[in-house]
Amino acid sequence: MIWIQGDEEGWACSNCRWTFPVPTLLNGKEAVAAYDRLAGVKFREHKCEAETSPSAPIQEPQRGVDTHFAERARTLIKRGYTPKVAVELVLQETEVEHGNDPKVMAEARAEGEDFLLRARKGLI
Ligand SMILES: [Zn+2]
Repeated sequence: MIWIQGDEEGWACSNCRWTFPVPTLLNGKEAVAAYDRLAGVKFREHKCEAETSPSAPIQEPQRGVDTHFAERARTLIKRGYTPKVAVELVLQETEVEHGNDPKVMAEARAEGEDFLLRARKGLI
């Protein structure tokens, strides 16, 4: 696991093209620490190209933003993140997974705001 700088800044794998770029919306010590921890988790989970056979490519299943947003945020909260940081991290993941698609990101931000509203009311 190496730190890259250049066009994209963030954590990357020295064996394959896996990267976990620093999101532009990341600010605050808490969020940076959360990003670092999440990068560590993602790094351990990633399918390293150096270890997989080229004849058997692994296809990432398409995941819908709307159905998984709250679920992912809740998982992060269970691991000790505040709702605000959890939502930021899920937004960052969405940004990475969907190549910053404006439509998907708008939906994800709306989901995030809704999630935070419900969290404040104690409905999560
Ligand atoms: Zn790798």
